[in-house]
Amino acid sequence: TSSDGPDLPIPLGENLAMTAETQADWRARATAIRRLLRGAFGRPFASLPSRIITAVSAAALVTSFAVAYTSTQTTEAFLRQKIDERFPEVLDRTAERLDGWYAQRELDIDTFARSETVADSVADASGGDRLAREEARKYLAYVREGFPQYASLFVLDERGAVRVWVGERPELPDSLLERLVGARGTGSGTFFRLGGGRYQFISSPIYRDGRGVGSLHAMIARESLEQLLLGEDGTEVATRVFLVGEAGDVMVHSHGDTQRTTHERAVSATPAGAPLVADYLTASGEHVVGTAIPFSRFGWTLVVEESYDVAFAPIVSVRTRIVAINLSIVLACVLLAFLIARSIVQPIHALSESARRIADGATDVELPAAEGHDEIAVLSAALSEMIDRQQRAHEDLRRSNEMLEQLSLTDDLTRLHNHRYFQDRLRVETRRAKRSGDPLALLLVDIDDFKALNDQYGHAVGDEVLRQVAEVLNESVRETDLPARYGGEEFAVLAPRTDGEGAMTLAEKLRLAIAEAEYRPEGVDVEEGLKVSVSIGVALYDGDEKRFFNAADRALYRAKANGKDCAFFDEASAKA
Ligand code: GH3
Ligand code: MG
Ligand code: MG
Repeated sequence: TSSDGPDLPIPLGENLAMTAETQADWRARATAIRRLLRGAFGRPFASLPSRIITAVSAAALVTSFAVAYTSTQTTEAFLRQKIDERFPEVLDRTAERLDGWYAQRELDIDTFARSETVADSVADASGGDRLAREEARKYLAYVREGFPQYASLFVLDERGAVRVWVGERPELPDSLLERLVGARGTGSGTFFRLGGGRYQFISSPIYRDGRGVGSLHAMIARESLEQLLLGEDGTEVATRVFLVGEAGDVMVHSHGDTQRTTHERAVSATPAGAPLVADYLTASGEHVVGTAIPFSRFGWTLVVEESYDVAFAPIVSVRTRIVAINLSIVLACVLLAFLIARSIVQPIHALSESARRIADGATDVELPAAEGHDEIAVLSAALSEMIDRQQRAHEDLRRSNEMLEQLSLTDDLTRLHNHRYFQDRLRVETRRAKRSGDPLALLLVDIDDFKALNDQYGHAVGDEVLRQVAEVLNESVRETDLPARYGGEEFAVLAPRTDGEGAMTLAEKLRLAIAEAEYRPEGVDVEEGLKVSVSIGVALYDGDEKRFFNAADRALYRAKANGKDCAFFDEASAKA
């Protein structure tokens, strides 16, 4: 707007207003979302949405963790209980099986040792009976075919010399054979470790005529033992069963592993009787669950171990599933919280924005239409009502002020503008005339001998006449002219863009109109009505306001001096 124009709101075109509104709408929405995001992630707890989202997420998370923890614990306890039941069972069954197996082997060897053929092979002290030895070899070879549990079968004489040997024959030192001879009565308890190999022998003495002549020995096939340890659950690769000797050596292992173990941890967890399942790290660093029972036949220990991850694999799957479900729940909750927060905050934000604008003094605030019946809708409706009331009050006040202003600038009696208004306009019009160069004329109109009229008919009649004269005056001037009651029975007319000639024409016109009119105030009994004349002084504005007025006054004085009922023009003002 230009600087000197009135500071009024300029109405926009309908389309323009729509566009501006839509733009503002989008801007507000973008700001709200940005604020929302900043609130949610920038400064926690600073905004309502962030508080709602934090609270909901926290609740969802805590619940999820609690559920995950509880179900994991329950699953673990359940699995642990299963293992606690299963492992000792496996061990008991295996121990029983092993024991029976060894007893059967001892029986086998005892039986074979009683064979005549076997006895014949060692009966000859010189060891020279080659035929007898050949017979024994055939017999033992035949036996071995039927018993794959024996890697080899052999006959030693009293001094430990080999008489017959069938099957596998590892490099065994003489001292070992001598020891075997010494242990011939001890059944299956002889165990040797040679280099990387482990050998177990079952021995039985050979008698001839009630006299010990030698001994029969069987070397156990490790594969059969391993097979035995695998048992009927042999397919269960993760479950390992093994025998540990007194020195802590692994004697037989279901999976052929002969590394030293840390099964002592499992054993140490079994104080007495009932075996306890413990979980521990093996020598190779594997996390396992295991337990052990003593294997009394040899004073050994039978151990069962299973990889912890395999044993508790269901936990991992349960945990993964729970985490996935919980994550989805948490995400869903957060999304829901976000939507709820947004649905709360956006209208609140719009409301607070409106409230702020009202506080800033804006009177054209429009509230967003309230949807639904929630608290925000109620608040919005209430605020809307307040704004309406405020706007109505504002409008009333504006109208009253206008009226008051009008009153303060209007003369009560004549309804013409008063002296004050005239002075204001005089200042405005002289300034405008000075700027534009347009002529400006002033007419001072004074009723002739009004005092006499007052004296004759009284003041009330005078007032009424005064009012009627003003009416005639007002009707006789142009729209652009500015008539005013200057004071008493004097009027002034400002005539913008009017030169001396025009002003004199106007003055004559006024004078005649007033003179020709008949005034009939109430309560005055005159047939033709009263007659009134005026004298008029006319002047042109010459750039000085004071001179302007004085010139008109001077002209009026001259008109009076000239016999009244006439108009005079101040020539001096015209020359300027
Ligand atoms: P002149 O022709 O020289 O103007 O004589 P005049 O009597 O009109 O002039 P003067 O200035 O002597 O007197 C003015 C009179 O106008 C005085 C007063 O009684 C009367 N008058 C002024 N204002 C009012 C008014 O509001 N009502 C009435 N009734 N009379 C008024
Ligand atoms: Mg006067
Ligand atoms: Mg007068």
